Amino acid sequence: AKQEKRGEIVEFNLHHENSILSSANLAKNLREADFEAEFSMVFQPIWDIASINIIGFEALARWNSPSMGAVPPDHFIPAAEQTGLVSKLTKILIGKSLDVAETWPQNLKLGLNLSAVDLCSHEAITQILALIRDRNFDPKRITIEITETAVMRDFERAVQSLNRLRKAGMQIALDDFGSGNSSLSYLQKLPLDHVKIDKSFVQSADQDPRAHEITLTIVRLCSSFGFGCIAEGVETMAQLEMLSKIGCHTLQGFYFAKPMSANQVDQYIAENTAV
Ligand code: C2E
Ligand code: CA
Ligand code: CA
Ligand code: CA
Repeated sequence: AKQEKRGEIVEFNLHHENSILSSANLAKNLREADFEAEFSMVFQPIWDIASINIIGFEALARWNSPSMGAVPPDHFIPAAEQTGLVSKLTKILIGKSLDVAETWPQNLKLGLNLSAVDLCSHEAITQILALIRDRNFDPKRITIEITETAVMRDFERAVQSLNRLRKAGMQIALDDFGSGNSSLSYLQKLPLDHVKIDKSFVQSADQDPRAHEITLTIVRLCSSFGFGCIAEGVETMAQLEMLSKIGCHTLQGFYFAKPMSANQVDQYIAENTAV
């Protein structure tokens, strides 16, 4: 995990060495940032194409920095982890997500991403559980998304955290499955409810026979383990048809909608649900 992490940091610095997104500048701006004011959440729908219903939305963080402009989460989440600020940020992001999801119809679910640092901290999980309980948001409507990299950091701790979240009623999704450091043993050992197939497979599975076989195998494994299977990064009708054919009916991607603001979500729900 260390090596992988170091690799990411090096690549990140190479690309942004001379830019305002340099990691030193990012860290500095993050330390000085007003999290409540500068961060917001956008929401991307997840569809069940068998019943043609919206299942819910995944909350994705956005940072509008006064000095740097829009900074993507792939950059600021690692920076927040490195500066020790991520758990404070996570709580604020979850609070903002709940503010929005509270207004949705009760049948719609909310997907929340946790960082590796959150997942490996007993304290962070305690605070997240308290936050959700205090807000009176039904934990059964929440799916916590975690990555394999997060689990690799401290497997025992991660499993403890996942068990605590599940005991409170939340569901767990293993995110980006198939990318990076994928291991089938995670499917064997982790307390899971859903697996999200990484968009790299979804997007090549209608072209590349091996990607197709891998996607099919993941869908079958999920089905025999009793996990829900969600395909992300669905951009085309052809991808949708291929996924439907192999029995994966829970889909997310630009084909349906890009992540949208809280206001746009209300409109989207109104347009896409039969009353
Ligand atoms: P992720 O959790 O895998 O989120 C999916 C990413 O794929 C999002 O990028 C989304 O905008 C993008 N996406 C969705 N559909 C499509 C598609 O059809 N095609 C393509 N090319 N991309 C699609 P985003 O919002 O930039 O987030 C990137 C990553 O940052 C997320 O990946 C997640 O790992 C992390 N992240 C985002 N928000 C949060 C947060 O609140 N907390 C934590 N810890 N991590 C977050
Ligand atoms: Ca996610
Ligand atoms: Ca993902
Ligand atoms: Ca990702």
